[in-house]
Amino acid sequence: MNKNNPTQKPVYVTQPYLPPLEEFIPYLEQIWENKWLTNNGPFHQQLEQALCEYLGVEHLALFANGTLALVTALQALRITGEVITTPYSFVATAHSLLWNGLTPVFVDIDPLTCNLDPDKIEQAITPHTTAIMPVHCYGNPCNVERIQQIADTYGLKVIYDAAHAFGVTYKGESLLKHGDLSVLSFHATKVYNTFEGGAIVCPDAKTKQRIDYLKNFGFADEVTVMAPGINGKMSEVNAAFGLLQLKHIDAAINRRRQIATLYESALVDVKGVVCMPEPAETYRTASYFPVFITEEYPLTRDELYKKLKVHNIYARRYFYPLISDMPMYRGMDSASEVKLPNAKIVAGQVICLPIYPDLQEKQVIEITNLIRF
Ligand SMILES: *Cc1c(COP(=O)(O)O)cnc(C)c1O
Repeated sequence: MNKNNPTQKPVYVTQPYLPPLEEFIPYLEQIWENKWLTNNGPFHQQLEQALCEYLGVEHLALFANGTLALVTALQALRITGEVITTPYSFVATAHSLLWNGLTPVFVDIDPLTCNLDPDKIEQAITPHTTAIMPVHCYGNPCNVERIQQIADTYGLKVIYDAAHAFGVTYKGESLLKHGDLSVLSFHATKVYNTFEGGAIVCPDAKTKQRIDYLKNFGFADEVTVMAPGINGKMSEVNAAFGLLQLKHIDAAINRRRQIATLYESALVDVKGVVCMPEPAETYRTASYFPVFITEEYPLTRDELYKKLKVHNIYARRYFYPLISDMPMYRGMDSASEVKLPNAKIVAGQVICLPIYPDLQEKQVIEITNLIRF
């Protein structure tokens, strides 16, 4: 045994939440009995309804994953030309634009929220701009009021990448009600997972109808194909699992919130380790626990990252590198480092610490002790 190694097993940044296996068996038996495996089956229908109720939204269309949902959301609103977005996100945000032949225009972030800085959006608007795709990074609400105001002024659509925002409420209402559409991911690493999965939240039945056609090759009926849609459908197995997960989601989120509070109190006095301020008027789900390593800390961010790794703690640098620094984006005008100073700084400071419902208090203490020296 390595005595430098206080944790026996590797601790990853996240670990998917799984309910007891025996609870899932009856769902599988039902699928075997129905022999309805995909294409808007009974569990799919039930999950759409149940998620609308849980999240407090009007309409929701399930998808096989969040990336296909992003790609389809852009198609549903017939977005063309340029789309303003953030370089500080998971790469799928910008990839969904390229998959639609759109041009991402990167705009810098506010270093306090890690979200698009509304003060910098207007100067990036051109005659080709048709939409804004902001990200509620780590589940922190974007400045939704300012973004909507800008969108209204310039006649732009707003599609939120809400992959981190499942269950987040802002001013007492679902954060997913803002913008024209919001896109969720139910990937294994997210707060709420269906192994793989995703959804588009939309305000009206007509848009939901169009989205449902687009996720099924564009079929409007047996013989009518209205657009070059993709196959984005969620299967019955994933939908059934989603229904079971919903029974456990409140407990899972509460546990995450407790862990976040524990981290905050253990790190509050550590010079050079800055936790993210809790956003105002927000019910947070603690989908991530980012900390920012400044010059006052004795190690660089990457040195801390390696130190944790030596001790079997696999923290992650979300989001480093910036999307705008990746080969398929870095040649673009808006990707220039001088235009994105805050994103650059934050990407150099951030480290996301392990957070998931099964993480033990003892492990949190071990991790924070390593950070405290
Ligand atoms: C996870 C994630 C996605 C992609 O979702 P998938 O379900 O994995 O396709 C998109 N955007 C952000 C910000 C994400 O974190």
